[in-house]
Amino acid sequence: MAFKIKLWGVRGSIPTPKKPEEIKGRIQYHLENFFKQGYSHSGDITTYLKTLPTHLLGGYGGNTSCAEVSTNKTSLLIDGGSGIRQKGFELMLGPCGLGNGEVHILFSHFHWDHLIGLPFFIPIFIPGNKIHMYSVQPELKKVVQTIFSKPYFPVPFEQLSAEIIFHQLEARKSQTFGDINVTPYQLDHPDPCWGFKMGHENKYLSYCVDTECTRVTREELGDDLPLYQNIDLMVFDAQYTIQEATEKVNWGHASASFGLDLAVRENIHQILFVHHDPAASDETVYNAQQQAEAYYKTLVDYHKRSGETFYPVNWSYAVEGQEVKV
Ligand SMILES: [Zn+2]
Ligand SMILES: [Zn+2]
Repeated sequence: MAFKIKLWGVRGSIPTPKKPEEIKGRIQYHLENFFKQGYSHSGDITTYLKTLPTHLLGGYGGNTSCAEVSTNKTSLLIDGGSGIRQKGFELMLGPCGLGNGEVHILFSHFHWDHLIGLPFFIPIFIPGNKIHMYSVQPELKKVVQTIFSKPYFPVPFEQLSAEIIFHQLEARKSQTFGDINVTPYQLDHPDPCWGFKMGHENKYLSYCVDTECTRVTREELGDDLPLYQNIDLMVFDAQYTIQEATEKVNWGHASASFGLDLAVRENIHQILFVHHDPAASDETVYNAQQQAEAYYKTLVDYHKRSGETFYPVNWSYAVEGQEVKV
């Protein structure tokens, strides 16, 4: 049975739409490059587009954090960043559109970029729908009531048509949602923030957003170590380049190097790096990816020389809308 993740938002901190000038510049680049590459007919356009990497074509995406973890039976949403709006439209084509949908949303923490899509999540306005919301933090209900209150939003919480049901998750305790087990572990982020390890038929996904990863050794991680151990796919915060991560201490975010270090030591098979810096252009995210590639090579070389245990990892910088099965 398929166990998969879909990323509805991969940008960090604030939604980041492309500026008109950026779009204009990219169109100009491609019109010139198309001919430079020796193409001349409109029939060649599809072939040309296929040659382009992510950062030169659609880019990585501008919506903030929202992920969907699902099996054939169960679907869980994690975080309500601006990406959840698009998921809402999809849900409206199913039972949610008829007022008999049931949605489960887990929240890592309550920074704006993880909540900002909620007022635009259409199923919440349809009578008959049940929207279950979960967090380890006890203040979830208060937070959601505040979002849906004047003068922040014209529809007050009491007037939302769907039934909203709040649940508190217990730290480091497994809870079953249909055929998925979820265990929250603490991340290294202000206010605080919880990651989720999710299991289904001996496959494990871990969602580690947002985190600065200030604890790295097994001893430092202590009770939170299982979040990173024997994982098939980890979604990890790589907002910064390696250098930025050393400069922006206490900003709550990491670079890809932290995720790679954990992966080769703790047996993480695949990583999707997310929470791309809103200040970073697609080219800058691509450069960070190149830097991570060089860093990973140094890890491989070191482990070849030292003979230490090394688990190879398949990793990439995530693109909005990306879906991965494990
Ligand atoms: Zn965030
Ligand atoms: Zn945050």
